Amino acid sequence: MDNSCLLDLLIRCFAMTEPEDLNFTAFTDLCRLCSLKSGPRLHIFDKESEQRQILFKLRTCLPTMISKDDFLPKKICERCVTRLEQLYEWRQSCLSTDSVLRNYAESMRIVTSTINFQV
Ligand SMILES: [Zn+2]
Repeated sequence: MDNSCLLDLLIRCFAMTEPEDLNFTAFTDLCRLCSLKSGPRLHIFDKESEQRQILFKLRTCLPTMISKDDFLPKKICERCVTRLEQLYEWRQSCLSTDSVLRNYAESMRIVTSTINFQV
């Protein structure tokens, strides 16, 4: 489902006149990150997600606000979970590299200033 399909679904969900016709189940079954509805998915606030630190990784990697009571879908498809975990690992790797490079640059600056001082 692309974004136009999502829009169609949302229109169908909310354009109906009778409240009992509102299809909130279809809405809550959408993946929170890509809006796709197919395949297995992980609930953001269940035990497995807690063990895999999914909420922490979401909040660390994405600027979106996610809370239990935000009235938005709480499930993430397997493809997005994989991407999230790869993104988190890549982010951690980048931060580690940044730290190593900064330490090296600082060491070089100290050595250079020491050499300059001795000349
Ligand atoms: Zn997804």
